[in-house]
Amino acid sequence: MLCIVSLAPHSCTLDRLMPRRELLEGEPNILSYHQGTDTWVYSSKSKTAANAADQHATWDGKYPLCRGLEQSPINIKTEEAVATPALDRALEPRLLTHVPLLVNTGVYFELDLTTPVHYARPTSADKVVADEASKGTSRIEGGTYNFYQVHWHTPSENTVDGVQYPLEAHYVHQLNDTSLVGTNNRLAVVAVLYEESEACNADLDAFWDALPMEPGSAAYAQPVDLQAMLAPLLPAGYFSWSGSLTTPPCTEGVVWNLMKRRSKVCPRQLERLKQSVAGMRGGVDINNRVVQPVNERTIRMTTTATANLVLSEESAATESHSGSRLLMLGGFGVLVALLAGAAWRLGPRAASASAGSRPYFECV
Ligand SMILES: [Zn+2]
Repeated sequence: MLCIVSLAPHSCTLDRLMPRRELLEGEPNILSYHQGTDTWVYSSKSKTAANAADQHATWDGKYPLCRGLEQSPINIKTEEAVATPALDRALEPRLLTHVPLLVNTGVYFELDLTTPVHYARPTSADKVVADEASKGTSRIEGGTYNFYQVHWHTPSENTVDGVQYPLEAHYVHQLNDTSLVGTNNRLAVVAVLYEESEACNADLDAFWDALPMEPGSAAYAQPVDLQAMLAPLLPAGYFSWSGSLTTPPCTEGVVWNLMKRRSKVCPRQLERLKQSVAGMRGGVDINNRVVQPVNERTIRMTTTATANLVLSEESAATESHSGSRLLMLGGFGVLVALLAGAAWRLGPRAASASAGSRPYFECV
């Protein structure tokens, strides 16, 4: 289990980001795809709820990809999800623990793992990806994906059987192929829903209060064990489908993987994110895109039977220990992967080959 780290303000070095600039239409930049901009809004009318009309009005014209047929987020109808044995054990996150960079993008809280060099976002973000400093690699259906960052939306963007949750995490990956660096293509997201509970989430508390309240970044000296956060959720399986970025430019071809088991978050933790979002976005304290039509997409899911999808404290304690072991094994696995350059090169090719039968991987 992670220890709860009490953070004194002086433990962080708060740095203002480089001067912000407007993103150009469709500008490819993986690490800035959720970058804040006033040219699009979640809502201009309600301060507490996403507004579909406002989103259509401010997103669809400037960012035509947002009018696509395979957009995110979606509502998952569990009765219509197709149990797919091939998905069982096909998701293997292997996230490394480094000195993290805590970021308020102006849209949400984001955690970037650095090694341990500071970088200015977004102008030199590509360099961070290209410097071969791995933040971890996850195996997703036979492909090797590089982990980039995790960020949070409140309330959740994806819904399950019409139920919206108070918080959703997005662990953003990209297929391990150098030709993709700096683009929004071949992305994969591992998403986690949170249920509200009186007890606060100790894993989030390890760094949550250190996240800057204003756009900017803070270096953070404590290791954040993201692998341990995900590991307890893995045994319950997940849903998988093809979608898009949930912010402009809404690029499609994103492989979404939503964990069936949910984590927990307390009101205090939610409030901190809401206050930050409201401060940056004219008092609007939410940062979720409205649910998009599923259209002809198939929602697949693992065959894992789950009786209780809420992570209990007991199972969290038990499985986090498993997670720690997984992390150790994962670290060893990544080390082996680093040493086996051939394996790194084979990963993208294997995934590209399998993509031939999955047109939703095509770039748009
Ligand atoms: Zn997101």
